[in-house]
Amino acid sequence: MSDCSLIKKSALSRTDGACHICGGRLSEDINKFAIHDISNLDNPVLIETSNNLPVHFLCKEVRGTYSPIEWTRILKYGIVVRKEKKIKKTCFLDVKIPQYPNLPRIGNEKKTKRISFDTNTRRNVYEKINGHCHLCGIPLDAIQKMQIDHVRALRSGGSNQLSNLLPICKICNRSKWSYSPNTIYSVFYYGAAAFQLALKDNVFAINLNRLVEENEERNKSRRNTKK
Ligand SMILES: [Zn+2]
Ligand SMILES: [Zn+2]
Repeated sequence: MSDCSLIKKSALSRTDGACHICGGRLSEDINKFAIHDISNLDNPVLIETSNNLPVHFLCKEVRGTYSPIEWTRILKYGIVVRKEKKIKKTCFLDVKIPQYPNLPRIGNEKKTKRISFDTNTRRNVYEKINGHCHLCGIPLDAIQKMQIDHVRALRSGGSNQLSNLLPICKICNRSKWSYSPNTIYSVFYYGAAAFQLALKDNVFAINLNRLVEENEERNKSRRNTKK
């Protein structure tokens, strides 16, 4: 086996064969997926590091090399744009999102239960990609602050095993919920398209930022009512 295929195979074992971005299934054919070192996006050299994660080509493309701060903005945009059909149309973002072979949702009775993880597991998850959020790449300064992402969501048949867990920051975790791989991809896709458009069109950027603020206010008051 060549170096490249060994590197790819070992990346695949870090996520139980799922794309680390959307959680969707990956082909075992090493020509059909890419790898990603999210802690070092500017330097895409194919070397073996434990930070390599497997990813769909399209998911890698949509993630791009955005900095953690830019990516956070993209997530916020993606969430509002996906909800607002009108902006999707006016921004010409109403394109067909590519569909991946989806993982079937499984019934609640078969779903693995969410558990809280002990310190040892938390440390192992943290060390899996050297303490970075696997989506935005921000260094997570403390194991206690880290959240744990199920790469393949529990409701899509994911497990609580270390091979299905990756470190994630609070903001990125919130953007994924337990969405299906296609929905996660579409949130990121719309977010990145809107981000690019906002760079060029000031009025669009102002409107979009207002929608993000309104959405955050609504979520905040919803959380407060729950308490
Ligand atoms: Zn993917
Ligand atoms: Zn993050």
